[in-house]
Amino acid sequence: MKIYCDYCGTQIDTDTNITCPNCGASYANDDELKTEQKRQERELLLGDLDAKMKQLKEQEIMREFENRRKESNLAVIGKIVVGAVLACILIYVIIRVGMIVR
Ligand SMILES: [Zn+2]
Repeated sequence: MKIYCDYCGTQIDTDTNITCPNCGASYANDDELKTEQKRQERELLLGDLDAKMKQLKEQEIMREFENRRKESNLAVIGKIVVGAVLACILIYVIIRVGMIVR
C-alpha cells in the first residue's frame, strides 16, 4: 500500500520500501499503516468467521438430510410390517373361509 512519510511527506510504497526512500525514516509506527493492518486483520477474521459459518451450515444440512433419510427408512420399514400383518390376516381369513366351505 501507499502511505505518506510522517517526517518528510514523501509517498512510500510499503511493498517496495522498508523505510522512507527520501529521509530513511521508519514507517513501522505510521498511523495509516496501522489502520490498514488492523483493517486487513479484521477482514481476515471476518473471512474466517464466514468460512466457519458456511461449514457449520453445511454440517447442519448434512445432519438434516441424514435425519430425513433415517425417517424415510423407518417409514419404509413401517409399510413393510403393516403389509406383512395384512397379508397374514388375509391368509388366515382365506384358510378359515376354506374350512367353513368344506
Ligand atoms: Zn521521509
